[in-house]
Amino acid sequence: MKILPVCQNFNNPSSKGNVKTSPAFGAKLDTNYFHQKALSWHQGMIAKTNPLDIEKYFAQFSIPATFREGTEYAKKFVSYCCCQASEIFRQMQFELPKKIDLINFKKINNNNATGCCYYLPNKADNYSIGTVLFNTFEEKIFQKIRNQNIEINWENFPLIQANSKDTNFLSSEHFLSPFIHEFAHNLHYDILYKKIGCPELYQNQYRFDPRSMDIIKKLNLPLDEKNPHVSTDVKIFIQNRISKYGAKSLTETFAEGFTQNILDNMDIWKLRLVRNPFSIGNKTINEILNEILEGAIDDKKGFIK
Ligand SMILES: [Zn+2]
Repeated sequence: MKILPVCQNFNNPSSKGNVKTSPAFGAKLDTNYFHQKALSWHQGMIAKTNPLDIEKYFAQFSIPATFREGTEYAKKFVSYCCCQASEIFRQMQFELPKKIDLINFKKINNNNATGCCYYLPNKADNYSIGTVLFNTFEEKIFQKIRNQNIEINWENFPLIQANSKDTNFLSSEHFLSPFIHEFAHNLHYDILYKKIGCPELYQNQYRFDPRSMDIIKKLNLPLDEKNPHVSTDVKIFIQNRISKYGAKSLTETFAEGFTQNILDNMDIWKLRLVRNPFSIGNKTINEILNEILEGAIDDKKGFIK
């Protein structure tokens, strides 16, 4: 078992030689310490995980899940995290993905991504709406972190995720982040399709309505200066208060903001929510998330117009 440092000294300016005489009792230091301890504990649990048991866990909810590709560690890490993300969603009585697979993303021409969620069926690969996939990271890709070339894989993932939060690229430093993020996309599309209909025919659980594609397309538009639904002020707010990746499109704003809300209100040892994350927190963020969740676009009111 490899124990990785999480964000050690990343946020501590005194590590650059400016040594303080008194200990820093700042919240950030405490957070890093406890996050690191909790991570080590979960890495021990991951080492003991049997991915086939997690497949059986999902089978009881009629969710086909396979964790059979990639390294032994990838299978253990991804299956453990999918199970924990699922339990958090069950705590909130949120919809779970329809299918979960761990695959080499070379197959879907998406090498760099950690995960993805299908909101339309992928007929070529036989993936249905609500399928969530995670990358085995079998292809060698490196990322520069503090002048070191770090290979992107699940062993290094907690360090990579912590760095992504430090640079404000992603909204949470926690290793469960990409799992909550993809499950959030699935939840979002499920709620939208139940409300506005599904753009695809023959989807048992949804009423067919081709007009829903218009809303889906608008929610997936890049949040650039040409986007007519989001003002520059709101875009900057999303970028600064949620994350840079969350400012890619409104669907990513939802997934990133939702992930931040969940992980900020989770017991990092038990990996369960300690309070309802949507009843507290920043009012503006919650209102933006709610408008995106409801597909309230083109209504000329609120933050998303
Ligand atoms: Zn996403």
